[in-house]
Amino acid sequence: MGLLENRINEELNQRKETNTYNNIKVLEGPQGAYVKINNQDFLNMCSNNYLGFASNKEVIAGGQDYMAKYGAGSGAVRSIAGSQQCHIDFENALAKFKGVESVIVVQSGFQANTALIPTIITADDAIISDELNHASIIDGVRLTKAKKYVYKHNDMEDLKAQIEKAKSEVTGIVLIITDGVFSMDGDIAPLDKIVALKEQYDDVYLAVDDAHGEGVFGDHGKGLVNHFNLEGRVDFEIGTLSKAFGIAGGFIGGKKEIIDFLKQKARPFLFSTGLDSAMCGSGLTVLKKMEASDTQVSKLWENAKYLQSVLKDKGFDTWKTVSPITPVIVGDEGKASLLTKALFEKNILVSPIMFPTVAKGLARIRLMPSALHTKEDLDKAVNTIYECAKELEII
Ligand code: PMP
Repeated sequence: MGLLENRINEELNQRKETNTYNNIKVLEGPQGAYVKINNQDFLNMCSNNYLGFASNKEVIAGGQDYMAKYGAGSGAVRSIAGSQQCHIDFENALAKFKGVESVIVVQSGFQANTALIPTIITADDAIISDELNHASIIDGVRLTKAKKYVYKHNDMEDLKAQIEKAKSEVTGIVLIITDGVFSMDGDIAPLDKIVALKEQYDDVYLAVDDAHGEGVFGDHGKGLVNHFNLEGRVDFEIGTLSKAFGIAGGFIGGKKEIIDFLKQKARPFLFSTGLDSAMCGSGLTVLKKMEASDTQVSKLWENAKYLQSVLKDKGFDTWKTVSPITPVIVGDEGKASLLTKALFEKNILVSPIMFPTVAKGLARIRLMPSALHTKEDLDKAVNTIYECAKELEII
């Protein structure tokens, strides 16, 4: 065995010894309120399939129709092999839904951040990023030669200070970038305040990653920018199709010339094959369903509020959430891991979240309610968590 294998085995063994090795489960069917593992049903409290579209029959049929019409794969990168009409139709429909001039779709939300940030930013520019931003924003920022600043989470005074600092230190533009909904805590960026602040300056731009906002916040799930009534005042919106849309893919929305520019220059667009037709067909079906009715979005919120109130009644701390993302604070890292395992043994799936993803001592399990859950499912989850937490002396 060479140096590489030794190094890797050492880390794998250390993870196994410290209970941090992730034994990724294998599901024997689609995502839903319940999933099948080893032929047993598990109550699923950990997927981002907020509106249940991952297993929706019409959404699946929409993908199948487009696959039959446009083929299984898009052949090559769009700049070489051509965009298919389904890409254009989907981009136009997304732009209308999000209230932006234009949209480009890419292969994932992760790719959307790595497509946007390095393409529009030069070495003369500054990027100011919230300290709790998602890994794909961090990686997108790392791919630039810009001067980098981080502001304290949602702290407008610190953001102002960083803008002033950046303005005095660079000659180019300043890009503020933030998650819309923060996926570990469930709190949201104060977009109204951020927009009011950035509008006091010339050449300060704002990008919002609305991965957990689409399908959740705003009129008919149009997202966080719509929720704050800020359409037209946020320069770039990054979106993902992998959460409320229930499929896969990502997109960027903004001014027409910016999107044209990304289609000329963004490396994940130029060097990675275009989104497949099934995603376009399923995505268009999701958009039609969301525009026609907000029943799924209302059901999601009803479930989220019910889950959070029942947890609080039992004495649990749901931290800072104002969204369906429901952290249940455990504190101790080892106990969060034991609680997750105990719940798995009782056929309930939750995700443990611990250091370094969140601060030491703030380990938690994260519950993700969806529109598919019933009140009985949520009661079952909370009662079982309560029993296990008592046994583990967490509560
Ligand atoms: N941005 C944020 C804020 C996210 O939470 C995620 C998903 N974890 C992504 C981007 C990546 O999206 P995708 O899964 O579509 O790559």
